[in-house]
Formats: sequence, C-alpha cells, structure tokens
Amino acid sequence: MLPCTQKIADLTWKPKAIILSGGPYSVYAEGSPHADPAIFDLGIPILGICYGLQEIAWQRGKNVTAGDKREYGNSVLHVERHSDKAAHVDALFDGIDIDTNVWMSHGDKLSAAPPGFITIASSPNAPWAGLAHEDIPLYGIQFHPEVTHTPCGGKLLENFAVKIAKCQQNWTMEEFISKEIKRIQAIVGPDSHVIGAVSGGVDSTVAAKLMHEAIGDRFHAILVDNGVMRLNECEQVQATLNQHLGINLSVVDSSEEFLTKLSGVEDPEKKRKIIGNTFIEVFQREAEKLTAVHGKAIDYLLQGTLYPDVIESISFKGPSQTIKTHHNVGGLLENMSLKLVEPLRELFKDEVRKLGTLLGIPEDLVWRHPFPGPGIAIRILGEVTREQVDIARKADFIFIEEIKRAGIYREISQAFAALLPIRAVGVMGDQRRYDQIIALRAVTTTDFMTADWYDFDAKFLKHVSNRIVNEVDGVCRVLYDVSQKPPGTIEFL
Ligand code: GLN
Repeated sequence: MLPCTQKIADLTWKPKAIILSGGPYSVYAEGSPHADPAIFDLGIPILGICYGLQEIAWQRGKNVTAGDKREYGNSVLHVERHSDKAAHVDALFDGIDIDTNVWMSHGDKLSAAPPGFITIASSPNAPWAGLAHEDIPLYGIQFHPEVTHTPCGGKLLENFAVKIAKCQQNWTMEEFISKEIKRIQAIVGPDSHVIGAVSGGVDSTVAAKLMHEAIGDRFHAILVDNGVMRLNECEQVQATLNQHLGINLSVVDSSEEFLTKLSGVEDPEKKRKIIGNTFIEVFQREAEKLTAVHGKAIDYLLQGTLYPDVIESISFKGPSQTIKTHHNVGGLLENMSLKLVEPLRELFKDEVRKLGTLLGIPEDLVWRHPFPGPGIAIRILGEVTREQVDIARKADFIFIEEIKRAGIYREISQAFAALLPIRAVGVMGDQRRYDQIIALRAVTTTDFMTADWYDFDAKFLKHVSNRIVNEVDGVCRVLYDVSQKPPGTIEFL
C-alpha cells in the first residue's frame, strides 16, 4: 500500500499490477491527489476503483463531473460481455453473474467513457460502472469490490490479481503464524520484556496469545477496568486470558478514577480523550510497578493494530481525514521510551479471527463482537454517570443475551444498546412517567468499512423491547436503528 502520488521513478522494484483505490476527494477539485502518469507506461495491468476509476478517466479525457445524485449503498450491476473483443476485456467479470449486487459510495461520476475504453458493466445510476481498455489490461469500476456488500468482489479481485496479473496465491495463515513468531522473537531478542493492554476483544487477545507463543512470560498483559466495560466483562476476560490461555495478566480496577474524570462531560471527542489519557496514566503506573518487580526495564509495547488503521495512516497528505480519534497508547511510547510491536498490522478482522482459531482461542471470544476502547461511554449520548452506565449496561446485556439465545450472534457482526438521554413520555402502572430511550443497533459486515442493519424478526424485537422496559429502571421506550454505513457509522458517537 503506497500513497497514490507515489513517483514510479522512486520505486526500487517493479510491481506486477496496480490497484488505484477509492478516496474522499474529487479528481477535478483543486489540490486533489493524482497518480503519477508514469504508471501507464509500466505496461502492467491497472485497476481503478471509484476514485481510481475517476482518476483514470480524468487523466485520459477529463470526463468526470459531480453527479446530480449521490449514491451510497446497494446497487444492481449489469455485466456486459464482449466475446468479439480481446480476451482481457471479459476477464475481470469472468465467472460473475450478469446481474449482481454491488456496493456504491460516490458523489462524482464519469460523463463519458474515455477514448479506447468499452463498457463492461453498468448500473441504473452509473452507465460506466465498469470499463476496460480495448487493447491493454486497464480497467476501472465505480463500485467497491473490497467490501462485504459486494458479494462478487472477492472473485473480481481474484480475477484481476491471478488471471489478469498472473500473481501467485501463496499466503497462508499457518505460514503467517510461524513467520510472525520468528519476527517477534528477532525484534524482542532473548531478554527483553513486552507489555500490552488487553480488553477482552478479539484483536488484543489474539495479539497477546501470539506474543505469549513467541516469548512466554516475558510478555505482560494488563487489563484496565475503566468503569465503562460491559456487564461482568472484567471477570470474564480475566478467566479466559489467565486461566484458559495462560497469559501473564494483571487486572487493575480504575473505574472510580475514570468515572470521576468523565463527570459532566458530554462531548464525545472529549470523552475519548479523557478515557485515552486516563488509560495512559493508569497503564503507565502499572508498567512502572511491573518494572520494579522485575528490576529490569520494559522495552516494548504490544499493540493490536489492524490493517484498516494502517490504511487510515497511509495517505498522500499523511494520516487521512480523522474519522474519529483512535483510542491509542501513543503517549506511552514517548513517556516510557517504549518501542512498538504490531503483529496484526497486515490483517483484517476476519483474518484475525482465523488466526485466533488456529491459536486455540475459545470460539466465543474469537467471534466476540468488537467493542470500542471508550466502551459504553460513547454509547451514552450525554453525560456518563454510574447510573447511566448501569442503565446502558443492563439494556445491552439483555439485547446480547437474547441474540445469543436466538442463535444469531454469529450472523450479526456488532450489536449493542445505546442510551439516548432524552425524556419521553410513558405510562407505567397507570402512571405518567418521563423516562429515557434505548436505541438498539445491530449490523452485518466483515470488514467494518461498510455495514447493513440486521433484519430481526419483529417478534424478537418485541420480546427484547418488553424485557428492557420491564427490567431496566429509567427506560420507557426502545428504538431499533435502521441506518446503513455509509452514511451512518456503526457507533452512535
Ligand atoms: N470522492 C469521489 C466521489 O464521491 C470518490 C469516492 C470514492 O472513491 N469512494 O465520487
């Protein structure tokens, strides 16, 4: 992955093919990034996706304008085959149905196909949703093959990489594990110690387990109870990591410290910063305690960074537009002069799960829905108090319990209850009461870049809503969120 402005002359190796990705800019706007025109002289296959397609069209005829309709979400693509043309023209959609669902996320569009290109796919709103050059393996597509909601996307990318660019498929997870363990051992050396925070989430658990395999008890995991974790979560994580996986773990209960600092704060970015900074302080104190016990400094910090975070940080302008401030431990690196180890930085979530299963991590943990670092604090849309945390936690617990009971937990990628601190009227026991609202959110996705809401049975929702209103004091209404991502994000804040 390189910034799209990479100068070809500066590369020390020759790529087998190039994929130009999507991006938030408009190719015709001033200051927008452009690919080095030299990519077209390499004589290798090129595939442009969304902004990438628009960039190819822009460099070859300036045929890109702002569309009159933006298009986010599902669209039906119609594939056009051209058996009378060169074989590479049809190769991109080889084995893909003539009418197939794809995911769109754009506002700009091509006003015409650039010279030399023929249409290989169209959609109701994008007549040039797929283009191929007549003579050379140069392609562009308006939709996103890299997201879950384009079911034929994997096949299309495979066609491009394997059939068209002749790349070999020789990457396996088993090989990744042994290579990564050796890489960690080489980085850390024979005596250095490593610390890392665990949250009970799949990423930090898998990273910790991999670390444990590589350096055993020289890896020290720390679990900080920040007061905004889920109901009973701290105890569960402790049991799994320590007793089941044998990871060297210390648990710190700092809930009071976090909740005190959060009192009176409503702004989500402020909440994130407070939680992030307090976390660093607590973590640092713990790390110092550990150092004192071992009488030897800790040199490395483990972080479960995944590839999407890496993508976020590779941009032609440096880190891309901040979608949100990531809960990270960046400050620690400077304060304690720690160096970073990131064994998962080349993996996507679905791959981390495969890795976790191969490392023997229990199924329910491997398939656990993601939970943000700032936890329930960003699922309470207002001030975070112990009482509000309690309400949000109980509602969330009921929702998840019912999802598990219905046997659909694995079908859903992420589900949670959010607390809307608005008073709505309700009648309970013949009495008028103004209580708060719980919003339920459940989405399906594999890469978390795009997501769709889960289509529950109405009976299920009725049952969950009844339980929440009856069992959670202070709630009189339950809503279900039916927004897709984009434009809605998965979390509320
Ligand atoms: N910003 C461009 C558009 O809106 C490209 C979007 C994208 O690459 N996803 O059309």
